[in-house]
This record gives sequence, C-alpha cells and structure tokens, in this order.
Amino acid sequence: MATCFRLRSFGAPRFPLAPPRHLRPRPGCSGLTARAAPGRAQLRSYARGPAGLSAELLRTDSFVGGRWLPAAATFPVTDPASGATLGMVADCGAAEAHAAVRTAYEAFHSWRGVSAKERSSLLRKWYDLMMQNKDDLAKIITAESGKPLAEAQGEMVYSALFLEWFSEEARRVYGDIIPTSSKDRRALVLKQPLGVASIITPWNFPSAMITRKVGAALAAGCTVVVKPAEDTPFSALALAQLANQAGIPPGVYNVVPCSRAKAKEVGEALCTDPLVSKISFTGSTATGKILLHHAANSVKRVSMELGGLAPFIVFDSANVDQAVKGAMASKFRNAGQTCVCANRFLVQRGIHDSFVKKFAEAMKTNLRVGNGFEEGTTQGPLINEKAVEKVEKHVSDAVSKGATIVTGGKRHQYGRNFFEPTLLSNVTKDMLCSREETFGPLAPVIKFDTEEEAIAIANATDVGLAGYFYSQDPAQIWRVAEKLEVGMVGVNEGMISSVECPFGGVKQSGLGREGSKYGIDEYLEVKYVCYGSV
Ligand code: ADP
Repeated sequence: MATCFRLRSFGAPRFPLAPPRHLRPRPGCSGLTARAAPGRAQLRSYARGPAGLSAELLRTDSFVGGRWLPAAATFPVTDPASGATLGMVADCGAAEAHAAVRTAYEAFHSWRGVSAKERSSLLRKWYDLMMQNKDDLAKIITAESGKPLAEAQGEMVYSALFLEWFSEEARRVYGDIIPTSSKDRRALVLKQPLGVASIITPWNFPSAMITRKVGAALAAGCTVVVKPAEDTPFSALALAQLANQAGIPPGVYNVVPCSRAKAKEVGEALCTDPLVSKISFTGSTATGKILLHHAANSVKRVSMELGGLAPFIVFDSANVDQAVKGAMASKFRNAGQTCVCANRFLVQRGIHDSFVKKFAEAMKTNLRVGNGFEEGTTQGPLINEKAVEKVEKHVSDAVSKGATIVTGGKRHQYGRNFFEPTLLSNVTKDMLCSREETFGPLAPVIKFDTEEEAIAIANATDVGLAGYFYSQDPAQIWRVAEKLEVGMVGVNEGMISSVECPFGGVKQSGLGREGSKYGIDEYLEVKYVCYGSV
C-alpha cells in the first residue's frame, strides 16, 4: 500500500483524498462499509474521483534541508470518517529529528542575516501560494482530520492569514534607545532571533497550528523543525511543498513526521537537543508538562498552548437568541474538538429554561452529522474511537449522577467515530463533564443563581484558556470580564480567534501568546547593549 500511495503521489497528476462514494457510509448503516480499509484497487479508484487534488501537495516523506527524505519505516494515516488508510508516511525517529535540528541550525546562520524585507516577501509568497491552493489544502485537512469541508476551508484561510500577518510583522521588530544616568553612556536594546525552534502541533487544526507558530518564528529570523500530529501530517507536508515553491531557503522549514509510537522519542530529541533554543507546543496539558520537563534541563524558551475548560455563562440580562447563536458557534465547531470550545454552560435561573429549549431546537435544526466531504455536513467524526469513548464516559457519568439528556446522548449510527450532538441539563459541578475537557459534541448545562456563584464555578479549575459570557448589563460586563481567570474572553461573542488578537491561556492552560503583535516576541531575545566612553 505504501508503494501504491507513493507512486501516485509522485507520478499521477491528480490524487483525491476524498473517499469515493461507494466507501462513504450511508446514514442509517452500521458504518461497516466505511470502516473497511480500501485495498489497492479501491485506492486506485480514488485517483479517478471528482475530488482530485494536486499530486504535488501530497507528500509522504520527511522534508529536511529543502529535500524530501524517505525514512526507514512508514506509518499509516487514516481517514477518521471511514477508517480507510489515506497513505503511508515517513516514520522518523530520534536520529532523523537530531539531523533535522542540525540542518535547521546551519540554516539559521544565514536566515537570520536575510533582511527583514526579504523575509517578509518570502512569507508573503508562501501566503499567496496557500491562497492559490486553498481548495486542495482544505481537502487535505478534511481527509485527515474529518472536519466538514466548509470548516476546513475556513481553517485554510485562517492558517494562510498567519503567514500574511507575520510577513507584515517581520518588518516591525523595533529595538529601543534608553536614556541613561551617565553622560558618557548610551543604552540600546536589540531584538534578535532565538535560533532553532522545535514546533510540536496537534491534529485539530492541522494547518493553522503550524502557521501560527512558524509564521512568527520565520518572521523573527528563527528556523524551525515541525513535528506534526501523527493523525494529520499531510497538511504540514503540503505546507513544506509550498514553502519550497515560495523560495523559503533550504533548512528554514523542516518537517519530521512520526507515528504515535515514536512521538515520545522524537519529542524528547526536539526538546533536549542543545542546538534548539525554543520549543513551541500546542496540545494536551499532560504532554505539555512532559515537554516542560525536557526544556528545564537546558533552560530553553517555551510557549505552550494547552487544554482549557471554557465556561460559557448566560446571565438573566442576556439576549437569549444571541446567546444560543454564540453557544452553537462556540460548542460545535470541529465537533467540539477545539481547546476554546465551550465546555461548561452556566445559565442563570431566570433565563435557564428558555435557553435550554432554544439551544436544543437550534441543535436539532442546524446540526447534521456526516462525512466531512458531504454537502451540508456540520459535524464530522471525532478524531478516533478513544475520543468517542471519552464523550460517552462523560455522558454516562453525568446521567448516573442525575443529569438529564435533552437531546442526543449516544454514539451516532453513521459510523464508529461519530457521536450525536448532545445537550445535558441538571448538570452539577462535581460531574466529570464539569471538571474535565470533553473535546467532543457535548454541551452540559449547570443552573446558577448569582453572579458570584457563576464566577466561582467558572474559576474553580486549574486551567484558564477561553471564557464566554452573555449579558446586556455594562457594569456586569466589566466586572465579569475582569474576574474570569482566562487568557481570552468573549463578551456576547462565541467565536473569538483572529490573527490580529493574542491567543493563549493562564494557569495550566499555557505560557506565552500566539498571533497578534505579541506573537513574534516568543521568538525574539532582548539584548541590552551599553555603549560607553561617548
Ligand atoms: P492528543 O491527546 O489530543 O493527541 P497530545 O498532547 O497527546 O494531544 O498531542 C499533541 C502533539 O503532541 C502531537 O503532535 C503528539 O504526537 C505530540 N506528543 C504526544 N506525546 C508526546 C510526547 N511524549 N513527547 C512529545 N510529543 C508528544
């Protein structure tokens, strides 16, 4: 199967990742057809399908020093909707990771000397190429992550915009002149690139989580080695193809994919190699802590964007329709698999019943579970069966402790990795779904009486990424926005991410900020120069 995939990705002009119609599960079926891994003949039939995409973008080797390098071993990447194998990808180990770091280190010495204007224009070319290939890149995102094509198209543009944004920021890295207390001295502050950055990314935004980090790193003058998530390496590799085409010099953007089995050794290599100066990670808090331990030994700079437990508070004064609209956007994007998705709905007693009723109606009317490539699908599969089991566990724990299922509540008949969009009421703060990030299409509603109570529940956790609340009372808006212990607040708004604004969390949700004018600082060192005897 590996050969089959490789031959086509290099030789054939088109290669569709979308499963052909006969492999797509039908609503109402057991999902068995969808789960059957395609044989050689079936894979060949992909190439004739209507959803074909440029073979140039479909890469399976690692990308180091501007070259595609096959690894000794490969691992399968599967379509989470059908379970079919999409391709066999290079399974790099620690040796390949160290080699990639050395290559990035060598490239750093020339890349840091490239003028800011030139770095800016190369990033801009990369952005332009992403936009020219946006449809194909979106299909790759849907194929490997399962998210609906419309959402993948949204991610693709969001992802490209980070390159555009940082191409602009590259030219605005200013130092300082500081007035001193002695006449014969002058004090200056220079901002310099840190060096090689190791970038470890998750599967839920296979493209945007890379450009948000890499755009800032390259703009600052750093070089990078990217380890994409094992579930979604194709987007990272497609980006490499376009970086190459844009003229980003060899060794500046490197990608070492690996299987889950090798993530530990590759992660350790990337985080302990003495030639690495910076680690930027997005993923679970548990893995973030492991990487922080690695970083401690050689005192590397780190940025961590970890898990959240976003509260979504609806006060009595809220406009209920606006709140329902925000809840839908915040909860069900990527089937609930984003770290800023609302995890706990706290709804004040006076508005509670009307909110729950309207939320349930909106879910039934607007959400459609299906294959991400099918027109009209809003809820794709979860990334794997483990993710489905977690949602199932949160539902059964809540129900066993007295919660009521308003809608949904079980696996979806569409296939193994699908779960029904679920709304629970009568939820209490001791239930698992109130204490742990569900990362799935589950909306649990807790009823509260006072503002103080809502803030206490919202803050009673050791993480703090995003928080949302709906209110029409200006004084309350100020009070609550200031008191929520999170890095990002949505006031009467359920979708808050944008390239211009700082993304990041407090407490155990992470360190540092990405995007915005602050994001580039994560890749810069401040150097003070004291100039004497003037
Ligand atoms: P999830 O459980 O949602 O996959 P993870 O935090 O485990 O979240 O994964 C995010 C990224 O971290 C992925 O690229 C994954 O391969 C990587 N990863 C997982 N475990 C380790 C580890 N021990 N060391 C380095 N990277 C890891």
